[in-house]
Amino acid sequence: MKQKHLIIVGSGWAGMKLVRELKKYPHETLKITLISDITTFRYSAALYRAATGNKEHEAIIPLSEILSDNPHISFVKETITHINRAKKVISTKDGMKFHYDYAVLALGMVTSYFGIPGIDQYSYSIKTASELHHFRAHLHRELIEDKTLDKSYNVIGAGPTGVELAAALTSYIKIIAKKHKLPSSKLKINLIEAQKRVLPISNEKASKKTLQRLRKLKVKVMLNQKVELQTPDYLQVNGAQIPTSTVIWTAGVTNNPFYKKNEAQFSFNPRGKVIVNQHLMVDDAVYVIGDNADTPYSGLGLTAVDNAAFVFKDLKRQLRGSKRRPPYKPLVPATAIPAGKKWAVFQYRNFVFTGPIASFIRSMADLIAYADIMGYKKALRTWLTSEEKEEKCQVCKASFTRS
Ligand SMILES: Cc1cc2nc3c(=O)[nH]c(=O)nc-3n(C[C@H](O)[C@H](O)[C@H](O)COP(=O)(O)OP(=O)(O)OC[C@H]3O[C@@H](n4cnc5c(N)ncnc54)[C@H](O)[C@@H]3O)c2cc1C
Repeated sequence: MKQKHLIIVGSGWAGMKLVRELKKYPHETLKITLISDITTFRYSAALYRAATGNKEHEAIIPLSEILSDNPHISFVKETITHINRAKKVISTKDGMKFHYDYAVLALGMVTSYFGIPGIDQYSYSIKTASELHHFRAHLHRELIEDKTLDKSYNVIGAGPTGVELAAALTSYIKIIAKKHKLPSSKLKINLIEAQKRVLPISNEKASKKTLQRLRKLKVKVMLNQKVELQTPDYLQVNGAQIPTSTVIWTAGVTNNPFYKKNEAQFSFNPRGKVIVNQHLMVDDAVYVIGDNADTPYSGLGLTAVDNAAFVFKDLKRQLRGSKRRPPYKPLVPATAIPAGKKWAVFQYRNFVFTGPIASFIRSMADLIAYADIMGYKKALRTWLTSEEKEEKCQVCKASFTRS
C-alpha cells in the first residue's frame, strides 16, 4: 500500500491528542507531519496557576519532551497561511509548501479585544509563555518600584479563566506582598463581567455558588459592567474610572484568522466557526477540529480531545478503505472550575456540586488531560510537580531560599 501523507496543524489539545493516538500507527503506511507556529503544548487549564506563582512547566510543555518517544513524527515550526484544497497543498508564511493526502486543522482561537480603546495596549493576558512572563514581571516590578500594591487588580471576563484567575490572585498577591515586606490589607481585586452572572456558560446554580465563593474570597464581582477604555492609569467601566495599572483581559476570543484569509475554501456559522460534516471534515481530505469547528461543545479542551479521538478512528477506517464510517457523536462535557484552594464547582448537565471533592475531580481531570497528550508516565511526572512554585523576582527568590 502506498504511503499516505497526513499533515496535522496545531500543537494544542486537538493536534497533540491526535499525534498521541497515532503513535503506534504503522508509519510505513502513514507519514505524519506536525506543523505548529510554537514549539510547546499549552495546557491552558493551568495557565492561571502559572500566572500566580506555580511552575510554568505545568502549563507550557516543550514539544520535544512530549515527542521524545515518538520518532515517526516530523515536526515543522511554521505558521500556515494558505490552503489549496483542490491541489491538496498547505503553504506557510516562510514560503514552504506541503502536499497532503489528509490534513487535520486544529488551530484554536485567538484573543479579541472587541476594539475597546487601550485594552490591546495596556492590558495583560496569560495565554502564552511571553504573556505570562510579562504579567508576572509587572506584578513584582510594581512592588519593587512603587513599594506598594496597585490601587486595584482587575480581571475582565467572568468565564472560567477569569474566575480561576481572580480567585488565585487573592492569595498570590498577599504571598508576594509579604515576601516584599509590604502590607496587603488594602488589596482590591475586581472581576468585571458584561453579562448578568458569573460563568455565563454554566447553569444558574453553578453561577450562584461561584458568586458566593468569590465574595467569600473578597473578590469584588462587578456584573452587567461594560469595559469602555483603558489608559496607563485607569480602566473605564460603565462611565466610571477605576484607578489601576493592572488589567487582565480574559474576555474575548475569536476564530483563527487563517480561516478568514482562506474564506473561499470554507463555510462558516454566524459565530465564524467552520462548518464541518458528520465526520468533522470540510471535504474528503480535510478535517477541522477543536475550537474552530462548528460542533455543539466546541470551545473546550475536552471537546478538542474528543474530536481528535474521533478523527483517529475515522482516519483508520478511511485508510483501511472501510465502507462503515459512523458519524461523530459529541461528548457532553463535564466541567470542574476551581476558585481558590480546595474548592471548585462541578457541573455535568444540570447536576452541580461544589467544594473539595469537586476540586479533587478537577485535579484528576488535569492528570487525565496530560495523559491524553503525553501518556501516563510523563503525565504523572508533570502532575506530581504541579504544586511546585517558581519565581523569577530576585526578592521573592531570596525569600524562597530563606524559608
Ligand atoms: C486561559 C484559558 C484557559 C482554559 N481552560 C480550560 C479548561 O480548564 N478546560 C477546558 O476544557 N478548556 C479550557 N480552555 C479552552 C481550551 O484551551 C481550548 O478549548 C483548547 O485549547 C482547544 O484546542 P485546539 O486544539 O482547538 O486549539 P489550541 O489548543 O489553542 O491549539 C491551537 C494550536 O495551533 C497553533 N496554531 C495556530 N495558528 C496556527 C497557524 N496559522 N499555523 C500553525 N500553527 C498554528 C497554536 O500555536 C496552537 O499550538 C481554556 C482556554 C484558555 C485560553
